[in-house]
Amino acid sequence: MQVEPVLVAGLIEVCRATIAENADHLCALDRAIGDGDHGTNMRRGCEAVSAEGESLSSLPFPEAVEKIGLTLVMNVGGAAGPLYGTLLIEIGRELRKNEERADFSLVLKQAIDAVARRGRSHAGGKTLLDVLYPVHAALAKRSPLSDVARKAEWSADRTAAMKAMRGRAAYLGDRSIGHVDPGASSCALLTTAICRYLGEHRPQ
Ligand code: ADP
Ligand code: MG
Repeated sequence: MQVEPVLVAGLIEVCRATIAENADHLCALDRAIGDGDHGTNMRRGCEAVSAEGESLSSLPFPEAVEKIGLTLVMNVGGAAGPLYGTLLIEIGRELRKNEERADFSLVLKQAIDAVARRGRSHAGGKTLLDVLYPVHAALAKRSPLSDVARKAEWSADRTAAMKAMRGRAAYLGDRSIGHVDPGASSCALLTTAICRYLGEHRPQ
């Protein structure tokens, strides 16, 4: 998988900008069922990645993705840091094994399963996994990027009906029902930003 340095730099920037624009909203979601820091945590992580943007862009794509994951683990903090970090570290490592012929949807599935193991969590538990698995399913059936983004947004909204099984929100039990999960929301925002950027910039 050959990815232009300019594409990596662009993806880092759209993710940073999306999280910066929505940080207050993500904190508000987290105030309802957690401790109110998800937007701040994610913004800190994205800014740390951005600060390394130039050196990341000069790396081969799998190494860049793995390094972004390590930076997120070190800077996001909270539960989300190790989970988003694991996702990217695993994607990078799997791509590195077979860079030219990697099937991205298979790589993503393995990485999501690693996140689930790390969080001792699964689909339906009102977490970012409830966006990641549907995104994988949409990619696996080669849906257009605009549909992948729509599926991500729809899946994040659907977490409102779920009862939290993991993380701080799980302490609320039934009282977590009726609120969108902040991690699912950040995941949908990032997916949408990435899909839109790739739709506009990916070489045909
Ligand atoms: P913290 O809960 O430590 O304050 P954040 O607020 O940054 O961390 O992130 C909270 C989000 O992390 C949740 O909305 C949820 O999506 C995700 N999350 C928390 N715990 C788990 C877990 N065990 N498995 C999967 N996702 C989790
Ligand atoms: Mg929190």
